[in-house]
Amino acid sequence: EALRPALLARLPDSVARPAYDRAAVTPGIAHIGVGAFHRAHQAEFTDDVLAGGSTRWGITGINIRPPELGETLGRQGGLYTRLIREDQSVAARVIGSIVSVVDSQDSAAPALAVLSASEIDVITMTVTEKGYCHTPATGALDASRPEIVHDLAHPEAPTSLPGLILRALELRMQSHGRPVTVVSCDNIPANGDILGAVVRELAARRGGGIAGWIEANVAFPGTMVDRIAPATSEADYAFVENQFGYRDRAVVVGEPFRQWVIENRFAGPFPPYDRVGAAFVDDVTAFEHLKMRILNGAQTALCYLGVLAGHEHTFDDMADPLLAHFARRMLLEESLPTLAPVPGIVPEVYVEQSLARLRNTAIRHRNHQIATDGSQKIVQRLLNPIRDRLAAGAGIDLLALAVAGWMAYLVRASDRFGRAWSADDPYAGRVAAIADRIGSDPARLVEGIVAIDAIFAPALAADARFRTAVTGHLGGLLADDPMQHVRRVMGQGE
Ligand code: NAD
Repeated sequence: EALRPALLARLPDSVARPAYDRAAVTPGIAHIGVGAFHRAHQAEFTDDVLAGGSTRWGITGINIRPPELGETLGRQGGLYTRLIREDQSVAARVIGSIVSVVDSQDSAAPALAVLSASEIDVITMTVTEKGYCHTPATGALDASRPEIVHDLAHPEAPTSLPGLILRALELRMQSHGRPVTVVSCDNIPANGDILGAVVRELAARRGGGIAGWIEANVAFPGTMVDRIAPATSEADYAFVENQFGYRDRAVVVGEPFRQWVIENRFAGPFPPYDRVGAAFVDDVTAFEHLKMRILNGAQTALCYLGVLAGHEHTFDDMADPLLAHFARRMLLEESLPTLAPVPGIVPEVYVEQSLARLRNTAIRHRNHQIATDGSQKIVQRLLNPIRDRLAAGAGIDLLALAVAGWMAYLVRASDRFGRAWSADDPYAGRVAAIADRIGSDPARLVEGIVAIDAIFAPALAADARFRTAVTGHLGGLLADDPMQHVRRVMGQGE
């Protein structure tokens, strides 16, 4: 049988269930982008808030892109099983905080009806980096994006995330006028500022008083979100069915660790997440840099070198002594020295804790999944630390190897290299075209790739120390045995 509200009373004892009366919960939060991460992170924190007695903070989940929610969460009354896994251990809990779901892939109308409702005080989102329609190198709106071009021409029927938010705010201004806190939970640097900037830029072009209303009534606090939640596999669905006796098409898997740091800038009522383990702080920047440059820096560096080494998952990369050694040295010797002190955190301990999380064999995060959209991720994870190191006159050899890993990944996905795999990255086509034109000469490849100024800031692209280091590594990684090059860098080769 299928998971649904009527089944809650009959769940096996090994599955925890909502510790509150779901019938009493009303929606106060609308979330856009109900994917694995939302179900593993914000919805669980919200479940904890509801268990603490604040029934007004239910979530209405909205997708404006695939997948459709109706056939999965919708049929299950919003319920789903969250599995926390660490190596052999599993903890299962049915989460009840998503009280309804809305599919708005074909038209903005269903999403706008929810987002503009007066009972919604908080709009959260996880829409992936691309969803913000910004230029990663500058943070400004990329007005050349087709969906932004569309929304500028048809603001009342938006298709982009920024266009949707703007229209929802406009409807709020024109109806009840209630303030709203809009919270990005995506892993992009300065996520609150980026979201605020793209929405404000659209508002300025729209006119009609909405820009001023936003200044007075809307907050875009920055957040740092953390929990590794890979895409759910068929084995996870089968596990729930075999172990617990019900079918669940919205299972999510996560690791034990979770962290949520939110800037204390709210436009109106906000869920008491600080009572259930989140932290409200004045400025999230130091936390964000720590996470992006250490945990995410290691994930990104490992995924490209891991694919080149023939490994499938992050934990396979970490089980390879050469790559594990490389990751630890890169973090300790080059990434960590670029970080400002973070209240309550010992950086070396955080590095070891991060590496231990990446060794968790139950978290089957595929290298190719982490490699997705690398052009949007390497800026804050690798290139910004490199920029800071160069400014301090410090070495960048290991970070440059990771950047060359990203380049080699995209170059090898081109015709020139027989399409070793297909790369899912907005700049994959551009890099493939460069490789098809130039061939395999690493210096000319690097010259062509660093000229993509949406990724590489001009000052960095022009820095000879950077180009030389990346060129040397790219040559090594495009050779027949890329790991021989990594061994040489690590002082293990001859
Ligand atoms: P997912 O593929 O399961 O879900 C992605 C969601 O984003 C879907 O609901 C989809 O409809 C929506 N979406 C995609 N493109 C969009 C667009 N252009 N406009 C609007 N909506 C769009 O992925 P996930 O694992 O849930 O990760 C989502 C984001 O969460 C990541 O990109 C990252 O920023 C953040 N995050 C994920 C993890 C993790 O371990 N999975 C950890 C930290 C942060």
